[in-house]
Amino acid sequence: MARTIEPDCRQCRREGCKLFLKGERCTTKKCAMERRPVIPGQHGNSRRRVTFSEYGTQLREKQKVKRMYGILEKQFHAYYEEAERMKGVTGENLLSLIERRLDNVVYRMGIGASRKQCRQIVNHGHITVNGKRVDIASYIVKVGDVIAVKESKQDLDAFKSLKGMKIVMPKWLEFDTNTLTGKILALPKREDIDSDIKEQLIIEMYSR
Ligand code: SF4
Repeated sequence: MARTIEPDCRQCRREGCKLFLKGERCTTKKCAMERRPVIPGQHGNSRRRVTFSEYGTQLREKQKVKRMYGILEKQFHAYYEEAERMKGVTGENLLSLIERRLDNVVYRMGIGASRKQCRQIVNHGHITVNGKRVDIASYIVKVGDVIAVKESKQDLDAFKSLKGMKIVMPKWLEFDTNTLTGKILALPKREDIDSDIKEQLIIEMYSR
């Protein structure tokens, strides 16, 4: 089943922000949000956003984050419930949980150019956690986990090109591009995650 019927760039235009769904293209001038940041269905050169009700604003924020991470509603709601049971601030727990998904970690380590590509890399069994193949994109990593490109796959062109590259990544992760092996150094904190997410809106929506 397709995860979404909307093309990637159209999803960004709908949310009115860059969701970084297409890898390298997202950081170039070819990005549709750089060229034409207009909501689908609006005409002309208008940059005007429609005005949402309070509920609508909360809903849009939730949609934005789900699209950004490629998570469906049922699973996203399960993350919320788990975040609520955890100690600390629910919104921050929610972001920390989704940030710890294996597909996102592979993305943050720079192994693939987009989360979608990284989900495929995981699903195809190219990634190991603590030496064992893990092909579940939603696997939640823990501190100390060793994440690596499977040794027998390291000669694939997509991974060979990473060798020796300098990759900037959040401080809770490390990744050695010579051995294509990395480690979870800490749990991600709020300041490690995209700052333009307003997680409080999502929590308000779910706790209505
Ligand atoms: Fe979004 Fe990337 Fe398309 Fe830009 S290029 S609109 S960030 S998916």
